[in-house]
Amino acid sequence: MELNKRQNEILEIVQSDGPITGEQIAERLNLARATIRPDLAILTMAGYLDARPRVGYFYSGKKPAQSVGDGMIGMKVGDFQSMPVVVAENISVYDAICQMFLEDVGTLFVIDKDSHLSGVLSRKDLLRTSLGNKELDKIPVHVIMTRMPNITYCKKQDTLLYAAKKMIEQQIDSLPVIVERERGLEVVGRITKTNITAAFLSLADDHDL
Ligand code: ADP
Repeated sequence: MELNKRQNEILEIVQSDGPITGEQIAERLNLARATIRPDLAILTMAGYLDARPRVGYFYSGKKPAQSVGDGMIGMKVGDFQSMPVVVAENISVYDAICQMFLEDVGTLFVIDKDSHLSGVLSRKDLLRTSLGNKELDKIPVHVIMTRMPNITYCKKQDTLLYAAKKMIEQQIDSLPVIVERERGLEVVGRITKTNITAAFLSLADDHDL
């Protein structure tokens, strides 16, 4: 939050001479008490100042409250990503379903024999195949996965806002976090809607929820 010149002056006065009343602050600035009332309200609401009846204003020493927008801009994928769960292209749909339950994830990333990203398997991909197919242990996942180059991914250094935008635009629940290698993409993490929700919640700090 940007403070204006007068708000900064008030902050300096309170920092050096607080606790101090609104009346006294106004006097020091040669202004009427009513003139600085909005500034005092802003400084108090933002968390720079605390006010006590009959004592006056004093410096809170707290970090000023950031706006939610400011907080989000600084968030990077690398700080919120989870471990990826990867499977080989030739494992069966049956085994992929077991893996999804065992690892408690909603999306599996598929890698080729060189360990590069080759596909994505979502819950619905597996459900769709299970409908009407009895021999799930005979179908390899590479037949049903969404494959490269149609995979949306992100990198550690991307902002979380970028990842959120991609997920919403593409209507998908997660993105692989990758590192570009000479011959393909190495999967190093995953970002899901849950990670985005956790990041959102972290902006609330220790506010009462
Ligand atoms: P679900 O289908 O279980 O709701 P998603 O919404 O994530 O899960 O997946 C929808 C479709 O998009 C699926 O066919 C899946 O293979 C595909 N998909 C999921 N994640 C990605 C991704 N990062 N890039 C490209 N396609 C994806």
